[in-house]
Amino acid sequence: MSGPQAAGCLFCRIVRRETPAKILFEDERVLAFEDIRPQAPVHVLVIPKAHVASLNDASEGSQALLGELLFAARRAALEKGIGETGYRVVLNTGRDSGQAVSHIHFHVLGGRRLQWPPG
Ligand code: 5GP
Ligand code: ZN
Repeated sequence: MSGPQAAGCLFCRIVRRETPAKILFEDERVLAFEDIRPQAPVHVLVIPKAHVASLNDASEGSQALLGELLFAARRAALEKGIGETGYRVVLNTGRDSGQAVSHIHFHVLGGRRLQWPPG
């Protein structure tokens, strides 16, 4: 499912400022905000303002937007001061990944030594 907004979607609600969030930055198409349950000293979520449920739901026309999200993830890491120490960008997709919110989001994690492989 994809479209401008989805009524009951948690992250669409954050985009519309109906649910509060600690917003780091935004532009016309992208929003970056702090994860409510951080898994590392830095844990930022980067989302498109338009609703896209998951990577599997992204259309060919979303290719530029996906690139913008990655650049926004890099910007979030730099603004949080972990550009040099390093960071991980994660995109969970579907059940086995643990994707819990059906609005595509990149996690930006860092500020500590991250384990590899992830669990
Ligand atoms: P997923 O498991 O879908 O990849 O990640 C969803 C993320 O959204 C989780 O890291 C979770 O902590 C975060 N999250 C869930 N609800 C909220 C919320 O209401 N506000 C914020 N800022 N983050 C949330
Ligand atoms: Zn949504």
